[in-house]
Amino acid sequence: ALMAAGALTNVSEVLGTLQMVAGSTERLTEILDTEPAIKDPAVPVALPQPPLGTVEFDQVRFAYDGNEPVLSDISFSVAKGQTVALVGPSGSGKSTALSLLQRFYDIDHGAIRVDGIDIRQVALHDLRSRFAYVEQEPIIFAGTIEENILFGKPGASRADVIAASKAALVDDFVSDLPNGYDTVVGERGVMLSGGQKQRLAIARAILKNAPILLLDEATSALDAQSERLVQVALEHLMEGRTTLVIAHRLATIRDADTILVLEAGRIIDQGNHDQLVAKGGRYAELAKLQFRDA
Ligand code: ADP
Ligand code: MG
Repeated sequence: ALMAAGALTNVSEVLGTLQMVAGSTERLTEILDTEPAIKDPAVPVALPQPPLGTVEFDQVRFAYDGNEPVLSDISFSVAKGQTVALVGPSGSGKSTALSLLQRFYDIDHGAIRVDGIDIRQVALHDLRSRFAYVEQEPIIFAGTIEENILFGKPGASRADVIAASKAALVDDFVSDLPNGYDTVVGERGVMLSGGQKQRLAIARAILKNAPILLLDEATSALDAQSERLVQVALEHLMEGRTTLVIAHRLATIRDADTILVLEAGRIIDQGNHDQLVAKGGRYAELAKLQFRDA
């Protein structure tokens, strides 16, 4: 259904609006469903400039309307430039935590703060401008490569698009395409490989240049060469940014400053990889069963 965007005349403008409203298109349906409940505060508090890039969950509880809590008593903080990895079985609440941080839903108890400010006090566009979200399966629109990257920052110059593409290792495959950045991709155009799509999404995020990176790692491995390129692109993206990553790769988890182990909506353990392995228990089991390259 999203491919309908390709039929509209000004794709960049449409994408820009989607980006502003939704932060990402996958979330768009979610937003459209929930937007009436999520409103800008009457008198918004501006997030600090320059950004600090800190995140804090303080005794957060959340249930999708009327159901059992999906997250309970979630408390953690992420300092500027730090990387926190969320790990845990499917359904444990990892994606929900990232949705709540972007305020796609309001929590039932506790507080979430960005740069020390309760996100309910902040205008939604201000809040969402602080995050770059790289999804597990990035959405590529029927449009040109440039339009797809501009989704990260509508109105950016071609020079900025190319700089982001170079950092994300997109530039090398784009220069091999017949029309370069004007090549149409997606449904009616050139098909990109899994690794190329991921690097395109990373280029978008680099162009957006947000202080806080939200990353949902792909669960399935690419071939070794693509994997290496994506990894280098990600390192460029993560540099200098606070990162919350739903981690499936052992290498990511090993490099994280803190690992939060979720189970059934609760943090059952936290620490770095060595600390958690030394403890044994659930983390050690997860490491054996669930993390790629384990
Ligand atoms: P994870 O990312 O760790 O796999 P999720 O945060 O996606 O876990 O899901 C946590 C729980 O919330 C699951 O039981 C899931 O079925 C439920 N859930 C997720 N999204 C929704 C939704 N939009 N509406 C209702 N329940 C949901
Ligand atoms: Mg998930």
